[in-house]
Amino acid sequence: MKKLTFALAAITLAAAAQAYPDKPITIVVPFAAGGPTDKVARDFAEAVRKHLNNGTIVIENVGGAGGTLGANKVAKAAPDGYTLLLHHIGMATSPSLYRNLPFKTLEDFEYLGMINDVPMTLIGRPTLPANTYPELVKWLNDNKGKINLANAGLGAASHLCGLLFQQGVKIDMTTVPYKGTAPAMTDLLGGQVDIMCDQTTNTSGQIESGKVKAYAVTTSKRLTSPALAKLPTLDESGLKGFNLTIWHGLYAPKGTPKAIQDQLNAALQKALKDPEFIKRQEALGAVVVTDGRLAPAEHKKFVAAEIDKLGVAIKAAGQYAD
Ligand code: ASP
Repeated sequence: MKKLTFALAAITLAAAAQAYPDKPITIVVPFAAGGPTDKVARDFAEAVRKHLNNGTIVIENVGGAGGTLGANKVAKAAPDGYTLLLHHIGMATSPSLYRNLPFKTLEDFEYLGMINDVPMTLIGRPTLPANTYPELVKWLNDNKGKINLANAGLGAASHLCGLLFQQGVKIDMTTVPYKGTAPAMTDLLGGQVDIMCDQTTNTSGQIESGKVKAYAVTTSKRLTSPALAKLPTLDESGLKGFNLTIWHGLYAPKGTPKAIQDQLNAALQKALKDPEFIKRQEALGAVVVTDGRLAPAEHKKFVAAEIDKLGVAIKAAGQYAD
C-alpha cells in the first residue's frame, strides 16, 4: 500500500512538472520598476518564457529594505514554481547587515542558476561642479558634512559600493535610501542628491547622453563599451584594490519540486544563449554568465562564498549586525 502511495505521488509530481507552467509565473524583483535589477528581470523574462511553453511571466516589484522585503516574500511563498525571485548581490550582503533577517539565505531558497555580472559606475548630479574623479574628490573634501549619497537601502548594491567608497576616500556622507535606484536616479537628475553608485544597466544611457556626471567604474579593469571606456577605475584613481561587480541569480522557495527546478534551470540556460538577450545585456555593460555558476549547486556555493567574503569587507567598513 505504502509503495503504491509513493508511486502515485511520483506520478502526480511528474505530471505536475510536465504541465508546468500552466498559469502565469511571477518573478519578484526586490527593487523599484525601471531600475537596473528590474531591467535585467524584464529582459530575462522575455528570453526565458520561450523555453517555458511561451508562458506568461509577470514582474512584481517589491522594493524596500535593500531587497530584503522582496526576498522574504518569495522565501514565504508557495513552493510551486509560480513565484520566483530575481535578486542580486544583496542576497550575500544582507546576512551581515541585518540583525533579524526574516529568512535564511542558504536554507530557504532553491538556487536555480546565475544570470549575469554587472559593473557599477560612480555618478553625480548634472549640476555638480566636478567633472573628473580628482575634481570629485576635491569637491567631496570641500563639502564635508553636506554630501548626499543615494542608495537603494541597507544591503543594496549601491549601499555596499557607497560604503566601500566612503571608507576609501575617508569621508562620511549622508545616505539617502530609496526603494531602488530608478527613483534615486530621478532625484539625482533633479539635483536632490549629489552622488550614487549604480549598475551600468541603469547608468549607461544617462552617461552616454551626458545627463549625469560620470567619474569612475568599480571593476578592477576599465570597461570596453564605447560609452564607458573613457572612465577610469576606482583602483587606478587611488582606491587600491577597489573591485566590485554585481551579480544576479534566480531563486525559488525551498521545497519547489525538483522536476520544476530542473525545468527552470534548463530554461535559464537556454535563455542565456539567446543572441538577442546577450546583445541587450552587452549594450548595458552586463556580461551574461557562461561558467559553472549556471548550475544550481555552483550558484549556491558561489553565494555562500560571497556571504563570507562580503561579511569581512562589510565588517572592515564598520558595519555589521552582531
Ligand atoms: N541598483 C540597485 C541597488 O543598489 C537596485 C535596483 O534598483 O535595481 O542595489
